[in-house]
Amino acid sequence: MSSPLLPPHPRAIDILAVGEPMMEFAEVSREGERLYLPGHGGDTSNTVIAAQRSGAATAYFTALGKDAFGDDFFRLWQQEGVDCHAVLRREDASTGIYFITYGADGHQFNYWRKDSAASRITVADLPADLIARSRVLHVSGISQAISQTCADAVFEAIAQARKANTIVSYDTNLRLKLWPIERARAVTHAAMAKADIALPGLDDAQILTQRDTPEAICDFYLGLGCRIVALTLGKNGTMVATREERRLVPAFPVEAVDASGAGDTFDGAFLAEWLRIGDPFLAARYANGAAALATLGHGAVAPMPHRVKVENFIAERD
Ligand code: ADP
Repeated sequence: MSSPLLPPHPRAIDILAVGEPMMEFAEVSREGERLYLPGHGGDTSNTVIAAQRSGAATAYFTALGKDAFGDDFFRLWQQEGVDCHAVLRREDASTGIYFITYGADGHQFNYWRKDSAASRITVADLPADLIARSRVLHVSGISQAISQTCADAVFEAIAQARKANTIVSYDTNLRLKLWPIERARAVTHAAMAKADIALPGLDDAQILTQRDTPEAICDFYLGLGCRIVALTLGKNGTMVATREERRLVPAFPVEAVDASGAGDTFDGAFLAEWLRIGDPFLAARYANGAAALATLGHGAVAPMPHRVKVENFIAERD
């Protein structure tokens, strides 16, 4: 089935994402010692890597510090095949970092991202040509929450995408440490109203839309103007809605080890597969498979599966 939404093809890039990548340091205890293992985080960076591993041609736009962690991200993207030629480096600001620590209440995220290089992105920095050469622009609530200038830049990127017939995809990724709920609601609803594909998670969406059921949330985002909603429901799978049809696409049951990054993997795999086949329901099934596999290991990037692994995993369960 092909979708009338599928953008003109060929374009150089399938999926371009804009946002903030962050170095991760996750606490581990080894032989009585407390160590911090480095890793890569940042929702939109995770999403392009997941999409690339599912066979899409991806690109990323952000700003990084001229520091070792910035270099590290370049190495990661180049290794993965993500086009990062447009990424800016700043002398006067650092790459964002966060630590994951473990206490009595479970794990805690501690961020050092204020005034980071990415948070200083402005409208003038945007790679207009790259946006116009991409089939999909993917952005998130975090891309907009990190600063006022980033919120504006993302709105402008969306406007440039619409003008160039580039499909806009948006994940709510609500972080109430970054902005108050009223502002999060106003900004993400305004962005969703200009998006084609909504990729919210249930917990975020319940808070943002003040609706309880997956059906009501899907209707809300369709009502704002989105053409496809893929609402992720954790181990219950994904509810996919278009203006014509709504369906629950079940998850693949697994013993999840670490579900952080599952939503980012879902987004990347969903967009890659939807661009390939044009059917959002089948794309969600594929993405549920990719996201289930991504919960089987620690960290966001390491356990993200490549296409062959996802296809074999799903085929074994058919
Ligand atoms: P987020 O990380 O944004 O909160 P979810 O928790 O909804 O996202 O998970 C995204 C997707 O990951 C789900 O739609 C599902 O396909 C998959 N997933 C998450 N948790 C599990 C789990 N325990 N078992 C199987 N699949 C899971």
